[in-house]
Amino acid sequence: MQDGSLPNLRELRSRGVYGRLESTAGWLSGSPWPTFYTATMPNEHGLYHFLQWRSDNMAMERPNPEWLPLRPFWRELATEDRRAVVVDLPMAYAPEAFHGVEISGYATHDHLDAPAAYPPDAMEWVRARFGSSRMQEEIYGPQRIDPLLALRDELLEATGKVASAGEALMAREDWSLFMIAFTGTHRGGHKLWDASGVRGRPSPAKKADLARSLHEVYRACDEALGRLVRSAGRDTTVLALSLHGMGPNTSRVEVLDTMLQRILEKHDGNNAGRPKTGGLLHLLRDRVPVEWRHTLKRRFPTALQDKLSAYWRLGRVDWAATRAVSLVADNLGYIRLNLRGRERMGIVDPGEEYDRLCRLISEGLETFVDVDSGEPVVDRIATPCELYGQGPRAALLPDLLVRWARSPASGHRWIESSLYGRIPWPTPGIHPSGRSGNHRSEGFLVAAGPHIQAGGVLGPAHIIDIAPTLYALFGLRVPSDVQGRALTELLPVEALSEGGTS
Ligand SMILES: [Zn+2]
Repeated sequence: MQDGSLPNLRELRSRGVYGRLESTAGWLSGSPWPTFYTATMPNEHGLYHFLQWRSDNMAMERPNPEWLPLRPFWRELATEDRRAVVVDLPMAYAPEAFHGVEISGYATHDHLDAPAAYPPDAMEWVRARFGSSRMQEEIYGPQRIDPLLALRDELLEATGKVASAGEALMAREDWSLFMIAFTGTHRGGHKLWDASGVRGRPSPAKKADLARSLHEVYRACDEALGRLVRSAGRDTTVLALSLHGMGPNTSRVEVLDTMLQRILEKHDGNNAGRPKTGGLLHLLRDRVPVEWRHTLKRRFPTALQDKLSAYWRLGRVDWAATRAVSLVADNLGYIRLNLRGRERMGIVDPGEEYDRLCRLISEGLETFVDVDSGEPVVDRIATPCELYGQGPRAALLPDLLVRWARSPASGHRWIESSLYGRIPWPTPGIHPSGRSGNHRSEGFLVAAGPHIQAGGVLGPAHIIDIAPTLYALFGLRVPSDVQGRALTELLPVEALSEGGTS
């Protein structure tokens, strides 16, 4: 905004309020969308990743509405006279019948269900006019630069198509609430942050091209925002927001399993928690380079991809001898204890044994440092209970959350612990996930409208406050089961005195 790259966002800011949004991304990186759309914290809603541990099945599974029911607020807020149009909001279950139009997965980076719409023909309507989206599943692992530049082009194109679809729906539909997500900055933030996800030796010209790419994606989003704000008209209240930020990838989750194994082996004996070897799928995992393996996996249906991910990670664990495991994750580390009474095959007693094991693991992980700099690899370890307190779905969350040191992880050659030995970094100089960027805990909000004072500054605000604020903007009582509060900086003076923000 400062250097003029994002003129539409800047214009919106100049006639409205701006501020940072606190988010749950800092500890549970996949939780911001459900946190936002339920206006509750993760211990209430329970959804933090596209594959989650399920203790009755002793496996990682994709959340589904039977197991983990969640309903986004817009499906409740919409009525016959207050219709909502919602385009591409990620990490929500398939659209269901409600007063409005919802399109899910047209061009999103992250979806729980297959692309779908309500009414069902709305997706076809969009595709027939603007073409299919080219947003593909993310490729795991470092890539050569050409596919990354192609990804940039794909994100630019997808952003333009989503904007066009948004404009067309805005004109065609009756709506009071219109929500649209541009997710190119997300995929771009992961893959185009810098060159630490690039394999091979690209030419200087291509490197320079890559260095400009994320900026271009941001500019495309800004242009899309401008088109939509103009279409909506000057007397519409507009909220432009991001549920979290992006920054250099600090995740060390690729070595967490080895770190944990070292700690458990030393204390529990030689084979503790180590998957039994053998089996064709494990042979495939061990022998096939990661990029090929994931390219191959991407050709399978989602359900089979999930099963493979889950199996490769935890499919052959000997639960009778395993006290803790690291779960599938892509940023922070998630550790689950095999707790008796909670896990179907639990062996760790609640109480003293559980507490002692949590301490052993936490203190053990904190002994690892970078061999070259001597800096610790772990920044802090917390429990969901410390962060969010007790909640109805707290037991679905990992037991320990591992936040990594702030330095980019791609710089490692080795990490070591005086107690547990050395572990090689899988891809020195680059990040093994191929993600050069990853989530940061803060998002932002810019809001402008006829009742919002220009040049205002937003006080402390959280992503759980957005839904209550929308309720209050419509003059509605905020539902009692949400945890956020309406942001008074965005409300007309009358709404404040009417007490519509209870
Ligand atoms: Zn992400």
